[in-house]
Amino acid sequence: MSELAVYAARDATSRGRRYTEPGPNYRSQYQRDRDRIVHSSAFRRLEYKTQVFVNHEGDMFRTRLTHSIEVAQIARSIARILHLNEDLAETVALAHDLGHTPFGHAGQDALNHCMSDYGGFEHNLQSLRVVDELEERYAEFPGLNLTFESREGILKHCSLQNAKALGDVGERFIHKQQPGLEAQVVNLADEIAYNNHDVDDGLRAKLISIEQLCEVALFNDQFQVVKAQYPKLTGRRLVHETIRRMINLLVVDLIENSQGMLTAAAPESIDAVRGYHRELIGFSEHMRQQSLELKRFLRNNLYRHYRVHRMTVKADKILRDLFNGFMHNIYLLPPEHQHTAQRYAEATGEAGKARAVADYIAGMTDRFAIMEHRRIFDPSELT
Ligand code: MG
Repeated sequence: MSELAVYAARDATSRGRRYTEPGPNYRSQYQRDRDRIVHSSAFRRLEYKTQVFVNHEGDMFRTRLTHSIEVAQIARSIARILHLNEDLAETVALAHDLGHTPFGHAGQDALNHCMSDYGGFEHNLQSLRVVDELEERYAEFPGLNLTFESREGILKHCSLQNAKALGDVGERFIHKQQPGLEAQVVNLADEIAYNNHDVDDGLRAKLISIEQLCEVALFNDQFQVVKAQYPKLTGRRLVHETIRRMINLLVVDLIENSQGMLTAAAPESIDAVRGYHRELIGFSEHMRQQSLELKRFLRNNLYRHYRVHRMTVKADKILRDLFNGFMHNIYLLPPEHQHTAQRYAEATGEAGKARAVADYIAGMTDRFAIMEHRRIFDPSELT
């Protein structure tokens, strides 16, 4: 790792773990965090969870696992150049989607709706819940007992009400402070990754076309450059050559603009970064506008495409049926989850029961949710 800047996260200034444990021998604290995430069961399940496309639709599309790896790659490159803590950036990137429900955004909205009387459901907060509470791997503590910095990075946003209940990691939402720079990098690396791979997957699925995409400056500029340089290039290579240039353009802009902001603000420590009145990692205004235009395009043409909408409606139905079914009759839950639901219900009543049901559903992969729905509600599946 290149030499760390004064404002990077480092072991020596870490705010530590919730449960004290001896330090790692041959790894940094953040490497240990990363390794714990890679070995977690929530991480493995990302392989069968999707963002836009349902998993069984085809093996060519991104899953949350490959998405998280792409985010980690982009975040590490940026962190290294900016002399930030690459291990922490990688950790946050690999963990950032751990709390996602099956069926991407549709699943999150459905579960949030189901939980509206019981404190709601936020996927980002759920990612923190996975690493703090739900993973069962260690004798000494629940969850993965990650460092404060990793947890701070995972919790990108949360409501004020939830922030108040969270203790240390919730405080910055109350005091309107920033997270460390590594978390800020991952946030934008996430945006770069999903915008670009949704273009790629959308084209592959034929939900959007190159002609349509040429309305978007960010795509069109690079597309024209590639066309001029390689007039005979067609098909996948033309698409990928364009996308890789878009990613590069965004990453270079982010690095150079952030470098400028960091030089101007000159924070002297990670705490100075946290206390600064705005984020110090960001695109130039021009690139921010271009990225927004691409986002808008994807929202209108891909995420609201009628074929995506059909999947959304089905996903919504599956999750609502499951939630209502389990709430109505907790004996439909596998024994382990039944016991958790009973335990939570004893502590906090219906809200507790609902939280246990939401945890169970959020942990499902797309295909597991489809199977579970069939097993419970399809009378021809009497097994
Ligand atoms: Mg993401």
